[in-house]
Formats: sequence, C-alpha cells, structure tokens
Amino acid sequence: MTHRPVPSDAATADDSATGSRRRVLRDAARVGVGALAAWAGTSTAHRAAAAERRADPVRIVTRQAGPFEVLALLDAHGPFPGRRQDQFPDARQEDWARAERLDPDAFGPGDTWTLDFRCYAVRRPGGRVTLVDTGVGPVGSPASAWAPVPGHLPAVLELAGIDREDVDSVILTHLHEDHFGWAVDAAGQPMFPNARHVVQRAETAALDEDDSATAYVVEPLRRAGLLHEIDGRVRVLGGGGRGGELTAVPTPGHTAGHQSVLVDGGHQRIVITGDVLVHAVQLAAPPVAYRLESDPAAARRSRQALLAEARRHRALLATSHLNRPFLQS
Ligand SMILES: [Zn+2]
Repeated sequence: MTHRPVPSDAATADDSATGSRRRVLRDAARVGVGALAAWAGTSTAHRAAAAERRADPVRIVTRQAGPFEVLALLDAHGPFPGRRQDQFPDARQEDWARAERLDPDAFGPGDTWTLDFRCYAVRRPGGRVTLVDTGVGPVGSPASAWAPVPGHLPAVLELAGIDREDVDSVILTHLHEDHFGWAVDAAGQPMFPNARHVVQRAETAALDEDDSATAYVVEPLRRAGLLHEIDGRVRVLGGGGRGGELTAVPTPGHTAGHQSVLVDGGHQRIVITGDVLVHAVQLAAPPVAYRLESDPAAARRSRQALLAEARRHRALLATSHLNRPFLQS
C-alpha cells in the first residue's frame, strides 16, 4: 500500500477560509513531524485562532451528547491493500448493495475498499478531553508498512483547539497499528503526558512479545506510569445524573481485548465502536466476518450486541473506518 498525502475530500469549494485550511493541512502533510513539534508548543493565542476554525465541515465533524462534545478527527484516508471481497468472504451481493448505499465512498475503483482512519475526541465543559484512539501515526510508525502515513492528527487537534496538555485520558480501543500511532512522539515519549491510557488487560495480555505494539507503545506508556489497564466494563468518566458518563465496554473478537466507548449524554448517546465493524457491509449484515478478526465468532457476537444496544438507545454510531463520521444506528 502506498502513501496517499492529503485526502481528496479535503478539496472543497475554494473560499478564503477553505483555502487557508487547505494550506494548513497541506503544510502539515508536508512537514509531518515538524507540525507535531509546532503543535506541542502551541500558544494560547494560536489556540484561540485554531478554535475559531473548529467548525471545519470536512475534517472535524462534531456532535453533542449532553455535556459532551464529540469530535470526529480524520487522521488519514486511503485504500486497503487487496480486493474488497477477500476481506469479507461471506458477504453476499445484496449485502454489498446495502453497504454501498450506507457508505458509497468506501467503494473505490474496481473492487477496492477505501477507508478513513479516524479518532474521536470527547470534550467536556471546561475543555478537558478524552481521546479515543490515536491513528496511524507519523512516517516510520508501525502502521507505515501498509497504511497512508503520515496521519494528520496533530494538525487536526490543533484545528480543533485541543492542546495535548488538555488530554487527560486516552482510550485505546485495541492495539492494532492504525489505532495507537500518535500515542508516542518521534522520540518514543508519550504524546499526551497528562493522560492515563486506558486499555483492556486482556488486550495487553494477548500481545506477542514481538508485536509492534509492545515496544512502540505499551512499554513506553508503562515506564511513564501512564498505562491504565482495566478489566471488563468500566466507567471512565462521570458519576451519572446530568453530568453524563463515558464507559469502556469490552467488545472482544476483532482482537482479544477490544473495547468500545459509550458516550451517554442523557438524551443523546453516541457509541464509539472501534473496529467492531470496519466496513459498512458489517452494518448492512452484522453476521459478516472480517478476515483479520482474531475470533470471528466472538466478533460477531460483540457486533450484534453492541448494535442492538445502540439501536435500543437510538444512539449515533461513530466508527473508525467508515467514510462517514457519524451514522444513525
Ligand atoms: Zn482499525
């Protein structure tokens, strides 16, 4: 899989705001880690200016759930290596047809699969932030072998007015390479020094010693005292009532310790799915397995249970890889 620089969907109508936004993104794509250094030193004035640009219709889409502002942050976009049908061998013609209506942009030329690599930020009143996943990372990250690097997360966070010091928790849905890429910086130091990094203990326990996640992210976070391993369903934020809650929910099968995040804002809920479903064909037909699931039967059960819970609460779905940041369940 080859490098794809800035997503083509960034090319919108060329008013001056869009033009400057596009320049920022283009520059960020060009300098990569340099943008990261600039972001790490973001000034207050710079942050205020960035906050004004927050309502970016292409890059940053937001939804409100009670007190929580949920921001969809596009890190990267590109094709998946291989034929679409090979990744979902039991998908039927009618499943693909439904999937194409749900997410037409996933259907690239021929039989390719085109996907987003997305993170989410949950911002509370007062500005503290929980980040869910950290994308494909910079050039040279473990995902570089197959994913479109560099990701744009540092530049997109800056556009959103989020300083890395504001991030007090990072929930990693799982430890695949396209989900932990920006958890550490180019020097291998934690990118979010004030954040506990919440991961299921079943996920770290299942890692092979030579898994790229071990050296790249688990060991540095553990050394820094920032790795927070949990078991099962755990409320990460909030104590109920009008304040809202953020809950990590085990959804194993894609990996052994995969988890999803429920954002409960009272009347509005958002389910950040992680890779419980990676393509709209698994929304169209939840029994359809993805070839790289570590336990397809468990993944199917997790997907069906999570989607049923989401529908019961009329929750929005926030997925990592569909080309639409929010969908009605
Ligand atoms: Zn993924």
